[in-house]
Amino acid sequence: MTFETLGLDEALVRALTAAGYENPTDVQSRAIPAALAGRDLRVCSNTGSGKTAAFVLPALMKVLAARQDPAQKPKKGEVRGPRILVLVPTRELSMQVAKAASSYGRFVNYLSVTSVVGGVPYPAQLKALRSPLDILIATPGRLIDHIGSGKAVLENVEMLVLDEADRMLDMGFIEDIEHIAEQLPAGRQTLMASATFAGEVGRLAQRLQKDDVERIEITNHTEKHENISQEIMWADDLDHKHALLDHILTDRDVDQAVVFTSTQIDADRLADRLNEMGHSVAALHGGMPQGRRNRVLQGLRSRHVRILVATDVAARGIDVPTITHVINYGLPLKAEDYVHRIGRTGRAGRSGRAITLAERRDVSMIRRIQHYTTLPIPVAVVAGLEPSRPAPD
Ligand code: AMP
Repeated sequence: MTFETLGLDEALVRALTAAGYENPTDVQSRAIPAALAGRDLRVCSNTGSGKTAAFVLPALMKVLAARQDPAQKPKKGEVRGPRILVLVPTRELSMQVAKAASSYGRFVNYLSVTSVVGGVPYPAQLKALRSPLDILIATPGRLIDHIGSGKAVLENVEMLVLDEADRMLDMGFIEDIEHIAEQLPAGRQTLMASATFAGEVGRLAQRLQKDDVERIEITNHTEKHENISQEIMWADDLDHKHALLDHILTDRDVDQAVVFTSTQIDADRLADRLNEMGHSVAALHGGMPQGRRNRVLQGLRSRHVRILVATDVAARGIDVPTITHVINYGLPLKAEDYVHRIGRTGRAGRSGRAITLAERRDVSMIRRIQHYTTLPIPVAVVAGLEPSRPAPD
C-alpha cells in the first residue's frame, strides 16, 4: 500500500515524502480511504500509530477540493469560518495537530491553520477567526467562549474531528462538545479518535455520527509495546528513589527523558533538584502559563532541554522521537495514563525504556496497571542500590 493508492493528492504525497514517510501505517491505510469516501470514522489506536495523519490528510483533501471549486472562493469581506474543525483536549495536542497539518499541507496553496486554545490572549484569536481559515484546532472551552460572543462562524464546517475524545470527556467537556456540534451543519463528516468507545464516549459517538460509521481498531491497551522495555524498580523511601533516579539519568543511553510526577508541586520541586545537580531540565505542567509551556516544548524539541519533568495532562501530546526514557517518579492516578506515559518514548519506530520507581504504597496501583495492560512488568535492580526488602509479589 502506498500513499498514492490510498487516493491522496500529489501535493500531499510530496509533503509526506519530504517528511520521510515511506508507507502509510495500518491506521492510515484503513482510515484514509474510508474518510475520503465520506464515511464517519471511529478510530481506536494508540499514540505513535500515526493517527494524527490519518485524519489530517483527509482533512487536507477537503481543503484541496475546495481550492478547485470557484463557488467556494470567499467574497471580499465575507467571513466563512473553517471547513475543518478539530477539537482536542489540551493545548499541547493542538500544537501537535497544527504542526502536522502545516507539515503535510506545505504544498497546499494559501493553507491557513489556526489554533484557538485556553490560556492565551483573545485578540489574536479573534482576528484569526475572521480571516480566511481552512483548519481550526480548538480546545472546547475556549471555542465555546468565541461561540458565545458570536465570533466563531461554524456554519461552513465540512468535517469535525474529535481527537482523544475520551480524554475530553474525562476533563468534563461533554456539554461543550455537544453545544459546539449543534452549531455545525448536520451533513458534516465526523471523525472520532479515542482510546475507548465504551460508556459515555460511545454514546456521544452515537449522537454525533451517522449510522454507517466505519469502526477502526488497530491496537488496544493490551498491546505489548514491544519496542518499549518496561521495568519496575522498588525503592525503600524517597531518598532511595532519588538515588535510583540519579543513577538512571547519568546513564549514557539516556538521550532525552521525561520524568513523570503525580503533582504539579512535585514537578517543580524535582525539576529544581535536578537543575541544582547540573542537568538541563525543565518542568511542564498545567499550572504554568501557556507561553512558558510552549518555550519548554520548544526547548525539548531543540534538545536544549534534556530532561522534562511533567505531569500527565501536560505531557499528553508530546511527540519527540529522541526521548529514549520515560521514568515514573510518581505513579499516575489512572492505569490508562501509564500507557500514555510510556508512549512518549519508542516513537516513530525507535526503541525506548520505561522505568517505574515504586514504593510499597504503590503496590495496588502497580497491580491495576498490570491488570489493565494484561502484562506483568519485570522487576529490575541497580547493583549497589538494591531495596532492603524483597520486591512485593
Ligand atoms: P501519532 O500516532 O499521530 O502521534 O504519530 C506518531 C509519529 O509517527 C509521529 O512522529 C509522526 O510524525 C510519525 N508518522 C506518522 N505517520 C507516519 C508514516 N506513515 N511513516 C512514518 N512515520 C509516521
